[in-house]
Amino acid sequence: MVKALDMLENEAEFDVVIVGAGMVGASTALGVSDLGLSVLLIDSFAFQSTMPDYTPSYDARSTAISWGSRDILNQLNVWADVSDHASPISHVHVSEKGRFGVTRMSADELKREALGYVVPNQWLGQCLLKKIEEQQIPLCAPAKVTSIHSVDGRQLICLEAKDASTARSKNISARLIIIADGTCSSTAGLLGIENDVEQYGQHALIANITTELPNDGVAYERFTSGGPLALLPLTERSSALVWTHDSESIQTFLDMSDDVFCQALQDAFGERLGRITRCGARNSYPLRLVRAKEQYRPGILLLGNAAHSLHPVAGQGFNLALRGVSTFLETLKKVELIQGDIGEISILKGLSDERAKDQATTILFSDQVVKVFGHSSLLVGLARDMGLIALNNFPMLKSVFASQAMGLAGKKARF
Ligand SMILES: Cc1cc2nc3c(=O)[nH]c(=O)nc-3n(C[C@H](O)[C@H](O)[C@H](O)COP(=O)(O)OP(=O)(O)OC[C@H]3O[C@@H](n4cnc5c(N)ncnc54)[C@H](O)[C@@H]3O)c2cc1C
Repeated sequence: MVKALDMLENEAEFDVVIVGAGMVGASTALGVSDLGLSVLLIDSFAFQSTMPDYTPSYDARSTAISWGSRDILNQLNVWADVSDHASPISHVHVSEKGRFGVTRMSADELKREALGYVVPNQWLGQCLLKKIEEQQIPLCAPAKVTSIHSVDGRQLICLEAKDASTARSKNISARLIIIADGTCSSTAGLLGIENDVEQYGQHALIANITTELPNDGVAYERFTSGGPLALLPLTERSSALVWTHDSESIQTFLDMSDDVFCQALQDAFGERLGRITRCGARNSYPLRLVRAKEQYRPGILLLGNAAHSLHPVAGQGFNLALRGVSTFLETLKKVELIQGDIGEISILKGLSDERAKDQATTILFSDQVVKVFGHSSLLVGLARDMGLIALNNFPMLKSVFASQAMGLAGKKARF
């Protein structure tokens, strides 16, 4: 239910206000509402309806969703819809151009129906926002938070909506504000929360491509001298490409004609899927590792990219964020049962401590994949070969790696 600012009551009170209706904010809102609490979503994007074709979060990308994330989306009652356009990953194939090390992993050997799923972001958005509408969760857009003050344990929020000629504002309040407005959150910035930023000097180029041979549900991860390349299965003969390039050369790849681009991709990827026959629109995203220096304050919690934004090469950002959402919802449920205060600092600290290990491991995993496979020395190359071979041949090692990649490591939250 998209509401303009005017339609919101002044001084309205909510249990939870979520800033950012992207993949993380919308998922969190569904879980909070399921617990019977009042929730308001705010987004700066001008949503015309809750079924938009394109928003900053629900754009032309596709997301590799781990087995663990499927379970969380199922608990949020959206998986049944999402699964209509979710392509199962039956195998993962990791290789490096010009080297001999290869790792293969299959759902069968891990006794799973799939290793994970690939879902177009636009579809994920439509499913999440359809549920937001069904659950009558108000979405106030376009609007931004301009100030937050804490008074007697409640957060007082000033909201503003601007159009070409006028700026209107409203005051609302909440027991807890969730900040989920993406990388280098401007809402967290209002509170003076800073970020640690590490630039990779790279951009990810994304496009959907069509191949001569069917992909048979295989997700390819290939490391090339230009940068890592992932091809994720979408339909029988189409795959979602995420190809990392140095920031200096990205424009060249964006400007190429389709034919020249397909040939460049073919050279980097090889013949495993036969000829690359077509490529769709190409877009690019700057890559950096961004971590908020604080993830909570009394009455405030940062989730998703606002808290941590990762390199997409290992497909872990949203999966990590969803695990954070599920732990938050589990905590919220427990606190509600004892009629506690979810905004209390000790509870938010406990939640943050619980998430710290998974965050550190996943961030390290994604960061090291970029650095190790970005290294051109002969010795490091040899070590990579040995690593891929070891991973392929030692079942214990493989199962540890798989459980991390499939989002199954650690305790599962129930909410
Ligand atoms: C190329 C690429 C490929 C990726 N592939 C994968 C993958 O395969 N698997 C995976 O797990 N992850 C992947 N990721 C990461 C994943 O996209 C992110 O983890 C996810 O988008 C984070 O969602 P979010 O809701 O936190 O932030 P966002 O998606 O950035 O959403 C933020 C929302 O906040 C709104 N907003 C912004 N500013 C304001 C403001 N001031 N006030 C109110 N609202 C505001 C925006 O309009 C938007 O709706 C990939 C990322 C990239 C770049």
